[in-house]
Amino acid sequence: MRLVLLGPPGSGKGTQAARLKDYLQVPHISTGDLLRAEVAAGSPLGLQAKEVMARGELVSDDILLGMLEDRFSRDDTKAGFILDGYPRNLVQAAALSELLARLGQKFDFAVQLEVPTELLVERIAGRAQAEGRADDNPESVRKRLQVYTDQTAPVIDFYRQQGELTVVDGVGSLDEVFTRITEALAPAKEVG
Ligand code: ADP
Repeated sequence: MRLVLLGPPGSGKGTQAARLKDYLQVPHISTGDLLRAEVAAGSPLGLQAKEVMARGELVSDDILLGMLEDRFSRDDTKAGFILDGYPRNLVQAAALSELLARLGQKFDFAVQLEVPTELLVERIAGRAQAEGRADDNPESVRKRLQVYTDQTAPVIDFYRQQGELTVVDGVGSLDEVFTRITEALAPAKEVG
């Protein structure tokens, strides 16, 4: 199964992706986690990305595509993947389509998690206390939500037009949302 999870910051993509990984037996690829690992390692890429991430802006498309190509060169992605945090704009959506075409992999679904903005702000504030992420301060959160509306929301239309979008209500308990996602994916899972 080859999936993209779409949704604003705080919509629960990361949490649901971690569960889906066990359910579908495919790797969870979070571009946010990959970038945070580079920052933590102090690599040249991490040094470049650090400030951009802290401001809540997008790291360059070139860096992201390089990271993704690198990750997709590993064998575990042959069985499929759950992509979380990518694509975040239309350039990235096109780059992903090209990459998959080049690898001869057929894309299955983009799952959009729908959550109202008030709830996002509340959830991120809770996470900020629990995890202390550098980009969970109010200013950066506002910026990330704005970037989502301006740049990532059009990606939803991109997948809708291709007939590859499935929309899931992201309000409810983790279990409820997980069940909704697996129900939405059930037909594709049976096919293979
Ligand atoms: P969230 O969705 O909660 O904002 P992520 O962990 O997905 O968190 O991303 C954190 C930050 O990492 C983003 O604000 C951005 O700076 C950077 N990032 C992650 N994925 C991408 C991407 N596909 N393109 C550009 N920047 C990205």
